[in-house]
Amino acid sequence: MLIDTFGRTATDLRVSLTDRCNLRCTYCMPEEGLRWLAKPEVLTDDEIVRMVAIAVRELGVTEVRFTGGEPLLRPGLVGIVERCAALDPRPRLSLTTNGIGLARVAKALRSAGLDRVNLSLDTLRPEVFHTLTRRHRHHDVLAGLAAAHEAGLTPVKVNAVLLRGVNDDEAPDLLDWALRHDYELRFIEQMPLDAQHGWRRDDMVTADEILRRLSARFALSPEAASVRGSAPAERWLVDGGPARVGVIASVTRPFCRACARTRLTADGQVRTCLFAREETDLRTALRSGASDQDIAERWRVAMWGKKAGSGLDDPAFLQPPRPMSAIGG
Ligand code: SAM
Ligand code: SF4
Repeated sequence: MLIDTFGRTATDLRVSLTDRCNLRCTYCMPEEGLRWLAKPEVLTDDEIVRMVAIAVRELGVTEVRFTGGEPLLRPGLVGIVERCAALDPRPRLSLTTNGIGLARVAKALRSAGLDRVNLSLDTLRPEVFHTLTRRHRHHDVLAGLAAAHEAGLTPVKVNAVLLRGVNDDEAPDLLDWALRHDYELRFIEQMPLDAQHGWRRDDMVTADEILRRLSARFALSPEAASVRGSAPAERWLVDGGPARVGVIASVTRPFCRACARTRLTADGQVRTCLFAREETDLRTALRSGASDQDIAERWRVAMWGKKAGSGLDDPAFLQPPRPMSAIGG
């Protein structure tokens, strides 16, 4: 098991399949993009599957989420999913994606064994989508969402980040739309993980503000705490349920005490936390003949050193050297 000194057990693995992306969300990366990892640095499909197999067989991981960058840009994605779904014990498999191109592969991903998708969409207005992502791809994302739902990659969860003066007025409209389409909407507080270091605490849209805006149109009642477990989203029943809305308030209501996450970057580094400043290199071990047990032991040691919290409230907090897109969000 992946245990840390605060008694937490990591059973939920986030695997970044690439640091590249076809959008340029302003809260994530600059217009010109970033210096991408060179191909030899990125784990191959075989190496990814081996790492997931070690996590599942040796370390008690039960949930695997593929992310990035944009994971749909990874040519071998369907094959990776298929091989991970064949592992024993079989982990639950999901994907966090911006949805571009998902319409083409949703069925193949479902057949390969993908259980669910989390799709990111911050606005219902195409022109605001362009302001936020610097690309005219709103219709592709909507098509991806519909295809995911139709393919049975459900519940389809939609992640939305609100930016002040851009889309912060859209919270109730997004929820209304999500309810009508049977998508589970979750708002994510903007975090200081952008490459440009543009995040300002006093400017971010907080969970309290999101809930205030939603409450103007909907009756929200908190879901029982026992249902949440280690999930990052706090959830509310909408108008008595069963529909729900979630808020991932990593900044103002951190959930570090219940964190069950371990992370693997596209270049084979284990991270204990999105906000960690340290990484443990498993790629070198992987490529120099280490056994599964040896790699598992290094992974265990890395997780044992997981800090109590993100450190966001510490005045000395420093952003991690890598941005969200390179860590795997
Ligand atoms: N490209 C995929 C996508 O956008 O879903 C997967 C990677 S992306 C880094 C994962 C999630 O992180 C997305 O829902 C995105 O909105 C969110 N995200 C990116 N930068 C963020 C930031 N600075 N604060 C909060 N969420 C952020
Ligand atoms: Fe790309 Fe996702 Fe970052 Fe947007 S949030 S730029 S889609 S990695």
